[in-house]
Amino acid sequence: MKCGFCSYEFDESDGKQGCGGCPGGCHSIHCPRCNYKNPLEPHFFKTIRSIFTDKGDSK
Ligand SMILES: [Zn+2]
Ligand SMILES: [Zn+2]
Repeated sequence: MKCGFCSYEFDESDGKQGCGGCPGGCHSIHCPRCNYKNPLEPHFFKTIRSIFTDKGDSK
């Protein structure tokens, strides 16, 4: 994934998850470089998007 702040590309497993410093629990991945809190994209969101992409608008 790519950090939305510094554009640093890193693997999701390389980012810091569950930092314990975010209110309400950490559900984001912190950039290992600048510690920016990158929101995690929910899985169903990707699925829905792929469905729309697959269907296309063939008319
Ligand atoms: Zn960053
Ligand atoms: Zn956090």
